[in-house]
Amino acid sequence: MTPLNYDELAVPGVRTLTPYQPGKPTEDLQREYGITDVIKLASNENPMGPSPQALLAIKKELHELARYPDGNGFKLKQALASRYELNIDQFTLGNGSNDLLDVIARTFASVGDEILFSQHAFAVYPLVTQAIGARAVVTPALNWGHDLVAMVKAITGKTQVIFLANPNNPTGTWFTKSQLESFLSRVPQRVMVVLDEAYFEYACPNEAEYPDGLTLLGQYPNLIITRTFSKAYGLAGLRVGYAATHPDIANLLNRVRQPFNVNSLALCGATAALSDQDHIRTSVELNNKGMQQYGDGFSCLGLEYIPSLGNFISVNVGDNALGVYDSLLRAGVIVRPVENYAMPGFLRISIGTEAENARAISALQQIIMP
Ligand SMILES: *Cc1c(COP(=O)(O)O)cnc(C)c1O
Repeated sequence: MTPLNYDELAVPGVRTLTPYQPGKPTEDLQREYGITDVIKLASNENPMGPSPQALLAIKKELHELARYPDGNGFKLKQALASRYELNIDQFTLGNGSNDLLDVIARTFASVGDEILFSQHAFAVYPLVTQAIGARAVVTPALNWGHDLVAMVKAITGKTQVIFLANPNNPTGTWFTKSQLESFLSRVPQRVMVVLDEAYFEYACPNEAEYPDGLTLLGQYPNLIITRTFSKAYGLAGLRVGYAATHPDIANLLNRVRQPFNVNSLALCGATAALSDQDHIRTSVELNNKGMQQYGDGFSCLGLEYIPSLGNFISVNVGDNALGVYDSLLRAGVIVRPVENYAMPGFLRISIGTEAENARAISALQQIIMP
């Protein structure tokens, strides 16, 4: 009997798929290098953690774990709807917003269709595109950011979905409200535009021209806003995000998603987190100070960096970025290499606490100018 070739059994898109590369977990580094004092600045997590109110709500919910969660996520949607002045039927919840990116791609595109996004855009866009056998159309970046004019020109009769990240990860680049509106007014209404606002809470308070996608939903019926509790809300481990759309889009997405895609702890944790906006404000302030700290540090070291509206910053450390990454690991500092984003030379560093940032900058200094 000839051995099975499992690859040939998989659908074409999956055969050549490479898995998403997550940031190196702290325990891995501890185990592999025997380093105990490790800081992780690799996955854009909130160094303050979640709101204490979220933790309390989760603890209270623990005794209900035998029960299935509310498959409609009513309370969380109600909290979102009231906070953002939208209707409950405009929301779709996801097991992280990644889940929704996947659900959106599967709802609107399949083999032979085109999905459009920018060079250096978030890695999940090419992944979900390839998995469903759609064709990725990638427009060249402009100054590391999305070239929205080029993106409009790249739309064809086969384009089903466009993914935009504002700000984008890993570049931190962003576009203004007027740039976005001029783009949206040129996209045919039959093309779904996904505006990924994973870093909305960090970006919005810091930049007057930064658009709040939710306020544009009424004008653009093909607009899909995705947001998450993984970043500023500090709940990355819980896996919960949401999409806000026209109710008819939500209706479709809710057919495709798994019936219980958001677990009960995530539902109640996110609902409580949403009500603690003080925690968001403090987190944003800490992030702003950290961003300043890195900007100053990189300038001192003569390193080029890309100004960022997120809770991370990409810095050019030169030809040997992987070597620098490895030396940082040995110093107990986990950052993210981004050569898989066609950004050789760059490392992405998540903004940590003041002490973590100071340690990362001084480790970098010792590596590049010992
Ligand atoms: C982190 C991130 C997400 C959110 O992922 P979750 O699945 O919600 O944890 C989405 N988009 C971008 C651009 C991100 O960086």
